[in-house]
Amino acid sequence: MSEDRDEPSQDQDPIQQLIAAWNTASAAVTKWVERTAATVGDAVNDAINRLDPAVRSRLESWGLIPARDLGPCQCLCATKHPDDVGVCDGEAVITRRHTTASEGAVDVPLCAPCATAQGFAEMAS
Ligand SMILES: [Zn+2]
Ligand SMILES: [Zn+2]
Repeated sequence: MSEDRDEPSQDQDPIQQLIAAWNTASAAVTKWVERTAATVGDAVNDAINRLDPAVRSRLESWGLIPARDLGPCQCLCATKHPDDVGVCDGEAVITRRHTTASEGAVDVPLCAPCATAQGFAEMAS
């Protein structure tokens, strides 16, 4: 009989927590833009300001920048976050700066769930 169990009592996946926090914020952004005709960039900024500070600093540490008129998400889901391919919602709300040897810095449009999943995929590796 073993009485010592050192497995942590976390049943919630941190990715899912971050995505849930972000989705709440981005749903608010959509409504706010519809009602006030604010720019998406402003609304996303506002949503980020409302996020939990821990979530926000995590996003910032991944080089994520809110932006407007980005169009579709350009994440390479199967490559960038193979463990969470299904999270993509298709609509980019943020850019992430990638530095490549051939092209220098490139800002890639990402939807919020993909941006979050990419960050976690990199942290885990
Ligand atoms: Zn993706
Ligand atoms: Zn995506």
